[in-house]
Formats: sequence, structure tokens, C-alpha cells
Amino acid sequence: MSDLSRIADAEFDVIIVGGGVYGAVISRECALSGLSCLLIEMNEVCQSTSANSLNILHGGLRYLQHLNFKRMRRSIYSRHYFQQLATDEIDRVAFLTPLSGWGINGPIAMRIALFLNDLISMDRNRDISRLQQLPGGKVLSNRTLRNALPQFQSQKTTGAAIWYEAVMNNPAKMVNTILDSAKEQGAVIISKTEVTELIHQNGQISGIRCRQSNDEQTVTVCSQCIIDTTGKTSCKLGNNLPGYPALKQHWARAVNMLINRPLFGHYAVGLKYSDHVKDNEAKFDSGNRHLFFVPHGETSAIGTFYESENAIDGNLEINAADQQRYLDAVNSVLLKDSITSEDITGWQSDWLPLEDDAISGQLNFAKASRIRSVDINGRFSGLIEVRSVKFTTAPAVARDVVAMMR
Ligand SMILES: Cc1cc2nc3c(=O)[nH]c(=O)nc-3n(C[C@H](O)[C@H](O)[C@H](O)COP(=O)(O)OP(=O)(O)OC[C@H]3O[C@@H](n4cnc5c(N)ncnc54)[C@H](O)[C@@H]3O)c2cc1C
Repeated sequence: MSDLSRIADAEFDVIIVGGGVYGAVISRECALSGLSCLLIEMNEVCQSTSANSLNILHGGLRYLQHLNFKRMRRSIYSRHYFQQLATDEIDRVAFLTPLSGWGINGPIAMRIALFLNDLISMDRNRDISRLQQLPGGKVLSNRTLRNALPQFQSQKTTGAAIWYEAVMNNPAKMVNTILDSAKEQGAVIISKTEVTELIHQNGQISGIRCRQSNDEQTVTVCSQCIIDTTGKTSCKLGNNLPGYPALKQHWARAVNMLINRPLFGHYAVGLKYSDHVKDNEAKFDSGNRHLFFVPHGETSAIGTFYESENAIDGNLEINAADQQRYLDAVNSVLLKDSITSEDITGWQSDWLPLEDDAISGQLNFAKASRIRSVDINGRFSGLIEVRSVKFTTAPAVARDVVAMMR
């Protein structure tokens, strides 16, 4: 009996559509809270946006710029969740950024920021094995920086900031570990099966129709609660509900360049880089973003580059002009080393959501994931839609989704 015929006409408390990190963590949390749950993924799990991240599970140091402590705490909670659940899939990595001048980018401001970061994440190492624990941040003197990374010898730096983050070795393994844990709690996981339609009566959901990738025949599965975690296609499943409150969502392409070697030893280095991304909410804005060089064993990922969906005609492929533009950007911030097309081993390219009110062409990224419970005729239809923003915060979002269902 195929997986699909096993669940035909079965009934679940909740069906989760989409097997990226959001679907996986939400399934686990639903199963842990005692709900019978089914997750359906149209390909293999974790092959879409979740497979294309820069792999950083971060504590939100950057959100200090927005004085957004709540967002930081959500990141810290979530990073801790992943570290506890999938220790073997995660490394702790020292992040370093050179400092310049004595103002907002200088050592004094950074010392304050790192102190606050450590204070706000004081519980970060609770129940974490010693080797995975994240030490406090620190500011290095110029001399220490230049000894550690001679590339900075001729730069006008005033030192460097160091802080620690968790970096995944392999997001697909991480997602599978989460799903194994969900299965242990009774969740049913089905891949290579597409949800084609929601079944409803007068806007009240009673199930889904789905079919295996190689089959035209659809199967019905019953549930009064569907959670849409389909990434870029989220907020489309509900289209066939009468009176469905459609949302207009703008997207940007996010790209990482993969190269054949680490450029800064075991450090992940962030170098200032000026591009067209707008951060309208920053209270302390240094005017630049960072391009991160993240080592993965003998290789590295460099990112992230952004383009509005319109500017690249909705295309995820990296063409020759894109490649040249990204190479120029990388070489413009590199100090001594430089890279050529021969160093490039691949690309990661996928979509990220912009704020709802983003003006076309302007890259104002959505700051928070959105959980929408879809009401029709003033009543909850049974559909919950999740628009995700960061891999890292999937556990905090899952916690909110489960709380919403109680
Ligand atoms: C280049 C890049 C770098 C990034 N770097 C980071 C980073 O370093 N740290 C961080 O925290 N975040 C990062 N992010 C963001 C992060 O990757 C995403 O926020 C997260 O992975 C989104 O996960 P998701 O589960 O919502 O979506 P997805 O991973 O896209 O999962 C959605 C799934 O739904 C499935 N699906 C769609 N329609 C159907 C259907 N009808 N039936 C069944 N299944 C369906 C798809 O096949 C897919 O597998 C990055 C993103 C990009 C693009």
C-alpha cells in the first residue's frame, strides 16, 4: 500500500502543507501538544528556500539597530531550540567584523552592543553541551586583528568585533532530524505529494485533495485545520475559498555565491558593502550592510545579494551579468585576495518576502514572520497561513501557531 492510499479518507486534527523548516517544526510542536497531524510535501523535504539559506542560526545581534528586543529574544529562543534538538548538525562559529572610526562603527559603540547582546542572551547556554556553548562577544585590538587575519594589515581599522553564532552543517539533515522527532510523537510525514485543493463547505474547511507527483488521481484527507507553510506559494492555497481575503505579496531574490575555499580561516567575516536594500526601521543605521563570508569546511558561502522580483523577471537562475555583478561586489570589499569565476562552485538562489507596503522596486524586507488565521464571513475558516522570514525563527513561530490553536 502506498503512503498516500494509507491516508486516503483518514482524519487528522491538523494538516500541514509544505515540508520546509517551518512545516517541520510546526508538525513537531503540534504532535508534541497532542494533536494528530499530517505533513505533506510535494518534493523531498527541505529542497526549497530552506535548502538555500546561508545556514546561520543567529541570535539577532543586528536587531539591536532597531532596538527590537522582542525579535532578538525570539531568535535566541529559536537558536537554542535547534541547538538542543540537533546538536550534531550545528557548529559554533566566530563571526568577525572589522571596526572603523570611533563613532557608530567603532570599538566603543560595538563594546556596548556586544555587552547588550550577551545580557539579552544570558540564558543562551542553558542545557547546551560545553562544545556547543556560545561564548560572549569581545572587541579585538588592531594588533590582535592583524595577527589573526593578516589581510587587514594595511586597512584603516580600529579593531574588530567578535561574536558567536550557530551555523548548520546541512539544513536538510536538520529538517529531517526535526521530522524524525515529530514522527516519534505520532506525526505522519508524506513527501512527493502535492496538495492541489482545499475542500470546504461555505468557506469552512473539511480537508484537502492531494496527489502523488507521478499520478493524476487525487486522494482526499480530512481535517478542519490546515496550516499553509508553502513558502513562496503560501497564501495561494486558500484561493478557492469563496470570499478568501487575498493578499498582495512582493518578493525579492536572495542569492549566495559558493566558492572553493574559506577566505578568512575559521572565521565568518562580515565586510561592509553598500547596496540598494532599505532598512527604514533602523534606529542606528551605519548606512551599509554586511556581506558575510561563511566558511563551510574547505569551502565558503558568500552572501547575501538581493534583487527585486521585477528587476530579474521572476527568475531564480543566475546569468552571466548577475555573476559579474556579484563578483564585482565581492572583489570590491575583499582586501588582498580576489576571486574569479573559476573559484565559484555554485549558487543558492531563492525568494524572501518584502513588507506588505513595500513600494515596487524598493527592497524593504519583511521584518517578522506573519501568521494569518483566515476568516471567511466573520468565522475562522480553518486555514492558518504562515509567511516565513528567517530559518532561525521557525521554532518561535511554531510556538505561536500552537498557542493560536488552543
Ligand atoms: C539566499 C538565502 C539566504 C538565507 N540565509 C538565511 C540565514 O542564514 N539564516 C536564516 O535564519 N534564514 C535565512 N534565509 C531565510 C530562510 O531560508 C527562509 O526563511 C526559510 O527557509 C523558509 O522556510 P519555509 O519552510 O517557510 O519555506 P520552504 O523551505 O520554501 O518550504 C516550503 C515547502 O512547501 C512545499 N510546497 C509548496 N507548495 C506545496 C503544495 N501545494 N503541496 C505540498 N507542498 C508544497 C515546497 O516544495 C517547499 O518544500 C535565507 C534565505 C535565502 C533565500
